[in-house]
Amino acid sequence: MNPYELTNMTSFVRGPGIDKAPFGALPDGGQADLYTLRNGNGVEAKITNYGGIVVSLTTPDRYEETADVLLGFDDLDGFLINRPYFGAIIGRYANRIAGGRFVLDKHEYTLQTNDGSNHLHGGARGFDKVLWSASPVRRGADVALALRYLSADGEEGYPGNLEAEVTYTLTRDNALKIEYLASSDMPTPVNLTNHMYFNLAGGPDILDHELKLYADRFTPIDADLIPTGEICPVLGTPFDFRIPVRIGARIDEEDLQLKWGRGYDHNFIITGKADQPRVAAEVYERTSGRALQVLTTEPGVQFYSGNFLDGSVVGKNQTAYARRSGFCLETQHFPDSPNQPQFPSVILMPDTKYRQTTIYRFVAR
Ligand code: BGC
Repeated sequence: MNPYELTNMTSFVRGPGIDKAPFGALPDGGQADLYTLRNGNGVEAKITNYGGIVVSLTTPDRYEETADVLLGFDDLDGFLINRPYFGAIIGRYANRIAGGRFVLDKHEYTLQTNDGSNHLHGGARGFDKVLWSASPVRRGADVALALRYLSADGEEGYPGNLEAEVTYTLTRDNALKIEYLASSDMPTPVNLTNHMYFNLAGGPDILDHELKLYADRFTPIDADLIPTGEICPVLGTPFDFRIPVRIGARIDEEDLQLKWGRGYDHNFIITGKADQPRVAAEVYERTSGRALQVLTTEPGVQFYSGNFLDGSVVGKNQTAYARRSGFCLETQHFPDSPNQPQFPSVILMPDTKYRQTTIYRFVAR
């Protein structure tokens, strides 16, 4: 379909639509674009094909006042040195692979290490730092943006040519749906996610946001934030969010896991079968009335409470992003799975397709 058809349509009708505008030039001469998706129902998402970054997500509060709920930058230059990974697609592998090494089919692969001696979020130039090809598409009555990237054999140390496709759909019922597809010509680990940081009120921190996690268990970490391999019940720990709790309620308790995470930076095992997206998390912010629901087909979700933000990154409207001023709910397979045989496998075989779906749905009440 002609990508401009939707654009033209929306200049006349205030329904769903998608627009494209230049976002800026990349150091290598490439050109990044900014796509604005509107669902005709008060929600707007701005997405760039650089890193597949969700630049902004504007949603109504309970008084139908709209505001951007994402941390990020006003322009491309900010995102070019996006150390916190604001809004980006993460690949080939979300979170850490210990020592940047894994063995597959008796061969040891060495990956780029970019977090001490470990590999984090796909390495030095992960999927968050590459230019994707983009095309506006339709998903029924909804507007969507399909992004494609071919990751060459050997990139960041990974085997196989990996074709990745990520489609962002803005649905009429105020959700941003992310569909991940990938295929490879060699067995390779794949674990894709999105790294949006949310603040549903625009306040200085997210400690008063109430969180519910549909998880009875989590995967504890060591001092380098690598899973120990254990699977622990949340019962009786500050990791029990099965009943909604303020994020800040227990975050500074004496607890070795909280100490090592500098707060919450842990993978939770989502309850229930994953053949269709099921609810993984819910967040409610009382002053705005905004609620976020996260549904996914993934087995895990990384709840990261923005502990490494320290005010040194200055983003939108000259905001210095302080510690815990945003939170992430990164749906995923478990960190370091290539080295943890007891975790669900992350190896994509050439004769199969990687397929995952995550939905971030907004309501106000
Ligand atoms: C990780 C954190 C890391 C952050 C980078 C999160 O996904 O869990 O440990 O510091 O990404 O911004």
